[in-house]
Amino acid sequence: MKTLVAVLAVMLTLPVPELFAQKKKAMSQREMVDVVLANTKPLKHPRGERLPLYLWPLHGLGTTNEVEAARLLKSLDERGLPVIASWNPAPQRREQSLRDALWLGRLQKKIGLPITISAIACMNSFCNGDEKTAHIGDDGKPFFDFSFEEKRPMGCPFALGFRHPVIREQLEFFLDAYQHEGLDIHFIFVDWEVDGPIEWNDAWAHSKRCRRCREHIPNIADFGAFQKALREIRCRMQRECLAKPVLKRFPKALVGNYAVYPNDGWRYWYDYFEKLAPDAPFKADQRARYRPWSQEFPLTGFTVSMPVVYTWYATPTWYDFASSDYRWFYNLLLVASKSGEHKAARAPSIPFVHWHTTAPPKEPNPAVKQFSAEKYQELLWHMLLRGHDTLFLWCPRDETAEETRLLHEVWAASLEHREFLEKGKPVTFDVPRQQGPVVSAVQLGDRLLVRRTDFDEGKGPVALSIGGKTLTVPRVDGRCQVLTLVR
Ligand SMILES: [Zn+2]
Repeated sequence: MKTLVAVLAVMLTLPVPELFAQKKKAMSQREMVDVVLANTKPLKHPRGERLPLYLWPLHGLGTTNEVEAARLLKSLDERGLPVIASWNPAPQRREQSLRDALWLGRLQKKIGLPITISAIACMNSFCNGDEKTAHIGDDGKPFFDFSFEEKRPMGCPFALGFRHPVIREQLEFFLDAYQHEGLDIHFIFVDWEVDGPIEWNDAWAHSKRCRRCREHIPNIADFGAFQKALREIRCRMQRECLAKPVLKRFPKALVGNYAVYPNDGWRYWYDYFEKLAPDAPFKADQRARYRPWSQEFPLTGFTVSMPVVYTWYATPTWYDFASSDYRWFYNLLLVASKSGEHKAARAPSIPFVHWHTTAPPKEPNPAVKQFSAEKYQELLWHMLLRGHDTLFLWCPRDETAEETRLLHEVWAASLEHREFLEKGKPVTFDVPRQQGPVVSAVQLGDRLLVRRTDFDEGKGPVALSIGGKTLTVPRVDGRCQVLTLVR
């Protein structure tokens, strides 16, 4: 108490700006790059044709010194890590944003590195609050849906068409400049989420009250019809304003959006802003409510699948498995397995991943335990053995060190088995509904690269049926096995 009084006394004598200076300074982007370098090692096994490992914290280098930038780019490349350029189309910012991005792109081209672009800002916002974007009531009065975010005026799905040219121009401004400079784009992504038509939260109720929505969806009382109508519009937005403009100029580019991926017709997770409408259909699994999901991917024209495998806070509260880790693992493996299994032949999969509990409330329930680092790394292995081509880390800045270390360890080690991962075929997407051993395997000829992860003390072998033959997988913790199919 005495110390506290003394500290308060010192604080009260400080002028206000110095008080703020006592707070921890936010990490600069240049420091962030050092954190990434310190938590990763140069690759032991060459990357070959495998995609690099994407890290959200590597948006830019935080330096304008060309010599230093080249050195950093090379050090990161030795670790399989590309640097991402972001495009900002805001009228006051676009010229500078373009200059910065081109500077990085030229340097990457000179060194022979692929160019990666974050075009998030270019897709926002179709729902810009313009009265013309609003729903329209029976009384002729416009109204918005604020059930997604307090300050986000979600509009009428059928009134957003006039926004297309505005949004497309925001992207084409940058695309044309890259094309003019001869800078080839390898991968361009967006995180386009809370904008445009979305069927969740109170959207259905709002559309039922809207005269225009009812005209366009005669059977609006049917959730399936409502969802289909909205997702078709959403896909057209992504196709016309993102996929087509990119692929017209860069036909080989990987282009995609967060959470748009081929699937089995079900969404096994909820984003931070999403809730199920009270009367919307769902499939129950213990306390989980899986939502019917549409097949957006083929309608968007995207060339890369981007599933989301995040430790959303509520996930472990849905299940009763004895192991707290299996409550996480089960759900995350479902998302990863269904998206891996349905992956389109020519579109690789780059799933977003995050380990620390995602979007917890201010006062989290102590019963929700953090997913263990060990089992998180196991999950990453199973993802790589179930058809995903690399991984993309998203995390808040202060989690960068640990998130990067855990992820890079697994991804770098997986390159030892590059031949299996490049040329082999995943043979199982099974997610055990009972807590127990989980097996993933990639087959190449008679050989199989196998990962087995156990959540119990059981030591017995697991039998895997492959093309009429049985493979016996013994328990081996913490590493892959190469087994041979006996003829
Ligand atoms: Zn409407």
